[in-house]
Amino acid sequence: MSVTVRVPAKVNVQLAVGAARPDGFHDLANVFLAVGLHDEVTATPSAGGLRITCEGPDAAQVPLDRTNLAARAALALAERYGRPADVHLHIAKDIPVAGGMAGGSADGAAALLACDALWGTRAPRAELLDICAELGSDVPFSLVGGAALGTGRGERLTPLEVGGTFHWVFAMAHRGLSTPAVFGEFDRLGEGTDIPEPVASQDLLDALAKGDPDALAAAVSNDLQPAALSLFPDLAGTLAAGRAAGALAALVSGSGPTTAFLVRDAEAADRVAGALRTSGTCRSARTAPGPVPGATVLTDRPA
Ligand code: ATP
Repeated sequence: MSVTVRVPAKVNVQLAVGAARPDGFHDLANVFLAVGLHDEVTATPSAGGLRITCEGPDAAQVPLDRTNLAARAALALAERYGRPADVHLHIAKDIPVAGGMAGGSADGAAALLACDALWGTRAPRAELLDICAELGSDVPFSLVGGAALGTGRGERLTPLEVGGTFHWVFAMAHRGLSTPAVFGEFDRLGEGTDIPEPVASQDLLDALAKGDPDALAAAVSNDLQPAALSLFPDLAGTLAAGRAAGALAALVSGSGPTTAFLVRDAEAADRVAGALRTSGTCRSARTAPGPVPGATVLTDRPA
């Protein structure tokens, strides 16, 4: 028996970041959109305890020990249900690693759902979401998918209505950026300034609800973008190349360094992706629609 779960990447169409709290975290108003770049996690029983393997272009950068979020998810579920975490988790990785698209979080949510199905634990949805929130701020959204507003550290989710499909292009960078390093740079750049409380933009929520790409393009924002650009100045060239190719909006995805381009339709997506590929400013460019569903069991079959 094995279970495969497919899980999407995310882009933050708004990422409003408050001042650092005493515990070091930041309050966020984080509008997540799940987009059609996916990892797949397959869970199979393993006699020799927990084992992680990974395939894909970025596989060499993925830890295969217990720091992998997929491993942590399996261990957390096993502990709650008092059972051994004797499972082999294979990650087919298509989401860029350390790219600001919640790839690790996606694998955590996928592994949790896969182990729940494989082991027949049938944990209630609310409990799965609790475990996700313990694993990391972006993990609950990977389970839920669609579009949602995240508050607190980003883990308290309110689902959002979306009135249509938005078309995106993502440009992958030649190297990764560490999320804690980007938040550190945000703190450094903001020293001595008054950082406002993070709030969701009503214009942005309206644009999502209407499915209006022009209105969404006018409303997207990312407070981490100056910090990501400060640590990775070449990203400015990628953003400029996408804008020159006709993107309606260009922004850093989350903590970066993946850059996200909102375009009018699928045809424009292919055109902008082609221009980015030949611009020499990125490693690769991919098109993806959003919103898409969250972590979903694909196969549940005898091995
Ligand atoms: P976010 O958008 O949530 O800030 P990210 O997409 O920028 O995250 P990830 O791909 O999640 O970044 O990787 C960040 C780090 O997490 C990696 O450098 C790696 O060491 C570690 N990691 C743990 N588990 C995984 C996993 N399953 N896949 C990728 N990286 C993982």
